[in-house]
Amino acid sequence: MISSPQDDSVARVNTSAKQKTKPVAAIIGGGPAGLAAAERLAGVAQVHVFDAMPSLGRKFLLAGKSGLNITHAEDLDLFLSRFKEARARLEPLLRGFLPDEIRSWAAALGVELFVGSSGRVFPKAMKASPLLRVWLTRLREAGVIFHPRHRWTGWADDGALTFETPDGETHFRADVSVLALGGASWPRLGGDGAWVPLLRAKGVTVNPLRPSNCGFDVAWSPHMAARFAGEPVKSVTLSFGDRSLRGDFVVTRYGIEGSAVYALSADLRDASDRDGKAVLTLDLTPDRDLERLTRDLSRPRGKASLANHLRKAAGIDGVKAALLRECLDATVFDDPAALAEAIKALPLTLIRARPIAEAISSAGGVALDELDEKLMLTKIPGVFCAGEMLDWEAPTGGYLISACLATGRAAGAGAAIYDSENGC
Ligand SMILES: Cc1cc2nc3c(=O)[nH]c(=O)nc-3n(C[C@H](O)[C@H](O)[C@H](O)COP(=O)(O)OP(=O)(O)OC[C@H]3O[C@@H](n4cnc5c(N)ncnc54)[C@H](O)[C@@H]3O)c2cc1C
Repeated sequence: MISSPQDDSVARVNTSAKQKTKPVAAIIGGGPAGLAAAERLAGVAQVHVFDAMPSLGRKFLLAGKSGLNITHAEDLDLFLSRFKEARARLEPLLRGFLPDEIRSWAAALGVELFVGSSGRVFPKAMKASPLLRVWLTRLREAGVIFHPRHRWTGWADDGALTFETPDGETHFRADVSVLALGGASWPRLGGDGAWVPLLRAKGVTVNPLRPSNCGFDVAWSPHMAARFAGEPVKSVTLSFGDRSLRGDFVVTRYGIEGSAVYALSADLRDASDRDGKAVLTLDLTPDRDLERLTRDLSRPRGKASLANHLRKAAGIDGVKAALLRECLDATVFDDPAALAEAIKALPLTLIRARPIAEAISSAGGVALDELDEKLMLTKIPGVFCAGEMLDWEAPTGGYLISACLATGRAAGAGAAIYDSENGC
């Protein structure tokens, strides 16, 4: 079925074999979305999974490095609300593979899970590698054929899929295809967004890929960047627009990163893209109200240095004190009431989102209205799309992998009933 561009005898064998045997399905991209599609198609079609990298699921494995958060156990309506404006389109697909079903699926692969105190669901081993190993073995046993080191480059004039391989260009004729190529974050793991022009050339609207769940640049002073890079800022409240949340973040050489920042990052990114900056408001003492803080800071300082006074009266020192010095005019420190107000609502100006290559995930991608309800591209019949390459975004918390698995299965289900003869 794989042929060199000149070798059309192989393509003919492929076509005639099709009449007697199962249809041939090509899945391009071996991340969670592509593998979920392969799983759904196995047994129904001859399934071939192609990936540009020497091994599959590299981003999935990386996701497991910091504790694989595979789904979330919260109330379903809340879960669905995380997909914001994409909810309406994604809901039927997410309902096709609900968080509970994801948990049963992982259990069936022999992976024990636990629900963390926040409702996030993790494998007990925390890693992705045991799950991926069993999953790939099961897929192989179900007849799925893997083709690593096959970088998809588009379509030949006769409609065959074209790939770059270490042995040169090869063509592959499929009755149906699923693209599950990921976004453009962490491109060295395989997903680099090079597919965007290939689909645009076919008239498909692909919205620009943008960083999601990302850090931000801040114009730190050289002292702040050198002295405090890597320092966690713990248990603060971050507010932007009408959203506030309590959590931790990390000061980096260039700005800020971390889970609480990621949770607000879509709005912060949109605002900084639009206005050239976004002002995040920090409450450095969420457990002490303004009245008490003002009283505490108004206590006579005696001979204590300002740093000692801040530490003793308000519990602020280290990186939190440094943030105050970075963001406030020196005169504020002489006025306890103004200082208390600033500690409760410290404005931190973010300049821009960090580059997409550093982001956890991508926003943008194939416009959802380019797809029918089975996730087939209406402009390219027989080609389905799934996973992060579609234009939706969600915070961290297991929502990303959940939606990749659900859309992968949905695309696989659509491909399984696609009739290449009649185009429906
Ligand atoms: C550090 C980090 C931590 C994360 N942690 C979590 C987490 O805990 N929970 C969570 O839900 N999500 C997490 N994510 C996000 C999650 O890993 C992704 O959303 C998910 O892997 C996307 O799945 P996908 O199958 O759509 O794409 P990918 O996993 O990116 O897979 C796409 C595949 O397509 C292949 N490919 C791309 N272009 C081509 C081409 N032209 N030809 C052939 N193959 C190609 C790539 O090699 C890749 O294997 C994390 C991400 C990062 C970076």
